[in-house]
Amino acid sequence: MRVALFGGTFDPIHRGHLAIAGAAADAFALDRVLFAPVGQQPLKSESAAASFADRLEMTRLACVADPRFAVSTVDAPRVDGSPNYTVDTLAALACEMPSATLFVLTGADSFLDLRRWRSPERLLELAEWIVVSRPDFPLSDPQLAALALTASQRARVHLLPTVQEEVSATDLRLRLRAADPCPGLLPAAVAEYIQSRALYR
Ligand code: ATP
Repeated sequence: MRVALFGGTFDPIHRGHLAIAGAAADAFALDRVLFAPVGQQPLKSESAAASFADRLEMTRLACVADPRFAVSTVDAPRVDGSPNYTVDTLAALACEMPSATLFVLTGADSFLDLRRWRSPERLLELAEWIVVSRPDFPLSDPQLAALALTASQRARVHLLPTVQEEVSATDLRLRLRAADPCPGLLPAAVAEYIQSRALYR
C-alpha cells in the first residue's frame, strides 16, 4: 500500500490542493492520499482563520472528489496546544501502518523551507517526498541545492514539476471576505459550506 500524508492548514481547502493530490496519485501510483488538516502549523505565526472542526469538515467534503483521497485526524490539535510537527505525525503513521510505503506530499514553497522544519534528516528517513511545483516557486536542482541534501536523501525526493495551479488560501480568504464567491477555485460543496457558516467574513 502506497500512502501519502498531505498535511496543510486547508483554510480553506481549494482547487490547488486537489489538483496536486490527484497529479501525485497518478504519477506515483498512490493508493491513498491522507489529507490531514493541521491543528497548529509550527511555521505559521498566525492561527488559522477557521476552526479545526470547520477545516476538517471542508476537507471531508472536498475528498469525495476521488476515491484515493481520505481525511485523517492524525494532525488534530494537541491537547496541550503545542504545534504539530510533521516528524511526530510521520512517526505515528509509520507505527499505525507498518507495511505501507510512506510518502509526504508537499508544494514547492513548503519543501524549499525544509531546513526550518523540525528534524529534516529524520523526515527524509521516515518517508519519501513528493514535491509539486507552485507558481513563483521554481522547482529544480538549483533550488534544491540550497537544502544541501546528501545523494541518498536526494534520491528520496521526487519532483512533480508539471502542475501549475495559481491559487492560494490566503488569496481566497481575502476574496471571500469581500463577498467574492471565488468561482472555480473551491469545490462546490466547500463553497456552500463556507456560505452557510458565514466563514471568512
Ligand atoms: P496559505 O495561503 O494560507 O498559506 P496554502 O494555499 O499555501 O495556504 P496550505 O494549506 O498551507 O495552503 O498548503 C498545504 C500544502 O499544499 C502545502 O504543502 C502547500 O505548499 C501546498 N499547496 C497549496 N496550494 C498549492 C498550489 N496552488 N500549488 C502547489 N502546492 C500548493
